[in-house]
Amino acid sequence: MAKRDYYEVLGVSKSASQEEIKKAYRKLAIKYHPDKNPDDHTAEEKFKEAAEAYEVLSDQQKRQRYDQFGHQGMNGGFGGGGMNMEDIFSQFGDIFGGGGSPFESFFGGGRSGGGRRARKGSNLRIKLKLNLEEVANGVEKKIKVKRYVACGTCGGNGAKNGTDMQTCGQCQGSGQVRKVVNTMLGQMVSTATCPTCNGEGRIVTHNCEVCHGSGRELQEEVISINVPAGVMDGMQLSMNGKGNVPERGGIPGDLLIQIEEEPHPTLKRDGNNVIFDQYISFVDAALGAEIEVPTITGKVKISIKPGTQSGEIFRLRGKGVKDINGYGTGDQLIHINVWTPKSLNSEERAALEGLRDSRNFAPHPGKNEKGFFEKVKDYFQ
Ligand SMILES: [Zn+2]
Ligand SMILES: [Zn+2]
Repeated sequence: MAKRDYYEVLGVSKSASQEEIKKAYRKLAIKYHPDKNPDDHTAEEKFKEAAEAYEVLSDQQKRQRYDQFGHQGMNGGFGGGGMNMEDIFSQFGDIFGGGGSPFESFFGGGRSGGGRRARKGSNLRIKLKLNLEEVANGVEKKIKVKRYVACGTCGGNGAKNGTDMQTCGQCQGSGQVRKVVNTMLGQMVSTATCPTCNGEGRIVTHNCEVCHGSGRELQEEVISINVPAGVMDGMQLSMNGKGNVPERGGIPGDLLIQIEEEPHPTLKRDGNNVIFDQYISFVDAALGAEIEVPTITGKVKISIKPGTQSGEIFRLRGKGVKDINGYGTGDQLIHINVWTPKSLNSEERAALEGLRDSRNFAPHPGKNEKGFFEKVKDYFQ
């Protein structure tokens, strides 16, 4: 089934504010919530679809990327794709607020699997420098990151031994306590985070000696990142689950990778095209010559025709950057500049003086000679 537009899913306009997006999602989440629609597969699909749309549109960077590239921009293992129920429920803290909200009663304890909600660890942020060649063709980068992983000694629960962990007596392990609140509409059952166990549902009596009860340890890890071709400076990729594990167990955060493009010494990127300024002598321009120009993949020979004018543009097809959405590859454009000597010795001056009045040296541009603007129009549209 083709994916529906995220704005359409939430029923908001493209210019909707964060507040409008939140409101729209809250409505849909309540309407299609699995607790309210048991065994209704369509409702579950709608619930997931709305959660995914919210996940993208509520994050400014993801939203920007989606606006620019559509669903395509969200694929390839980087963010946005496929949320599971745990991810969805971990969003709710954000949109329905903390303990005590009237929604908590049906988003809290009652859901299948019961018990405490999964906590998510913090995200890790790194910068990734790429050169033009890596950007142009995509690259697999192996990088070292230090991240919190589950403690190898206690397995992540933070307890010295299995017997050092007890179910919390106040909440019976649910992590939530129920309160009956009197409101204008009558009595409402509301739940709040259990103050004894901080919502974890368990209490550790003796801490693991290695992690001192945190349930996690820092570990250096080599992570392999598949960078798609055509990424741009400032773009952010995210790898789900490659961030930090929270204290005493839960879902790891994400690894957020910010792309930094290193400038190439001679080539300049312009979207998917690559531009190179080539200077030639007016002797080469007049007589023609074979010259070598750098490209992303190495040097390439091009021949300069006799009578080449300054400002001419050569195109090397397919020598640019691959499009990020797979729409072909850009070109390399070589901008020819005819170099006028800035100093001359007496012999050179004499030779050129002898040519000063030669008829062929007098400029006589023909009707087919294109001005600067026509050239730009031809090559850059
Ligand atoms: Zn431990
Ligand atoms: Zn408790």
